Amino acid sequence: MSLKNFFDFNFQTLKQFLLIDLKIEEKKTSMRAKQLWQAVYKKGLEELSHLTTLPVELRDKLISKITLKKPKIADTQTSEDGTIKWLIELLDGNKVECVFIPEKTRGTLCISSQVGCTLNCRFCHTGTQRLVKNLDFSEIVNQVMIAKEQLDDWKEQKIITNIVLMGMGEPFYNYDNVKTAVEILKDKDGLNYGPKKITVSTAGIADKIPLAAKEIGTYLALSLHAPTDEIRELIMPINKKFKIKDLIEQCKYYAETVNEKITLEYVMLRGINDSKECANQLTKIMAQFPCKVNLIEFNPWPGVNYLPTEREDMESFSKIIQDAGYISTIRRSRGQDILGACGQLRTESERKKLN
Ligand code: SAH
Repeated sequence: MSLKNFFDFNFQTLKQFLLIDLKIEEKKTSMRAKQLWQAVYKKGLEELSHLTTLPVELRDKLISKITLKKPKIADTQTSEDGTIKWLIELLDGNKVECVFIPEKTRGTLCISSQVGCTLNCRFCHTGTQRLVKNLDFSEIVNQVMIAKEQLDDWKEQKIITNIVLMGMGEPFYNYDNVKTAVEILKDKDGLNYGPKKITVSTAGIADKIPLAAKEIGTYLALSLHAPTDEIRELIMPINKKFKIKDLIEQCKYYAETVNEKITLEYVMLRGINDSKECANQLTKIMAQFPCKVNLIEFNPWPGVNYLPTEREDMESFSKIIQDAGYISTIRRSRGQDILGACGQLRTESERKKLN
């Protein structure tokens, strides 16, 4: 029989496996599953043979049926600002990127949900890579595990304090895997990230937002990037399908359900979406549901046709929003020199030709 990969289980299916395949006594399955789960997700166990708290017989049985094999790091780049980008080679050979952004009081890990993307946002480097595949939940969670291993982050005081699904791909086009991955990230016996330590960023798949409010419940970031459908459609083709009016309704519901503000992301493109009029129009949207805006410096990549808005203009844009009574922050760009900043991720994985 081929080995099962531990990371393909959630807690429920792990228990079933122990009961049915390993024939562990029913009354002990929960306890054993928890022991294993904690050893891997809390303590970073890499080899089952190191699990000395289990009876030898059970350990040997586990070793014969389960592997802890993970994707591996194909490349590491460190920015002059301390940001680290890992290129991860999945077990199927596809490659995906994730980025660690250290700050004074916290450390944020930005993870991917897909290899490539279908959205084609004009300003985003990932958008130039066709969708290769949806990541399995194990491949999403393992980006966190690999980063924790690299940073030796297994102590009580976490180094990676926050997780953002803002890497490659659209999380809500891989909804089920993202949902299961978030469940595993949140599990108190494991990685133990509270819902307010995780942010899912979406380009606005309106029909998935209410579902996510009930089932995922993390912070939500919406990549709005424009205050009108005309401008948004120009830079984000997805707006042909989901209009701003619908997004406002769904965000209103999300904010009420999780009782938190939505973060609006707004990448500032010179001469496209950065006028005073745009700022004023944006405040009209912000009046409709609890939210704040995060203005993002545009990060260029090879071949792109947009320019970043000047710093001064970003500040006056921000001030218009603040003067209207809303929170507006400017996201400092990190890891630009290693193409590790927002919207710069792209790998050379390609979809195999379907004959
Ligand atoms: N698909 C999801 C998550 C991935 S992108 C989403 O759209 O939200 C994470 C954020 O980076 C999004 O807000 C995205 O629009 C933004 N982004 C993309 N390209 C960028 C670039 N070149 N410079 C700055 N931000 C960019």
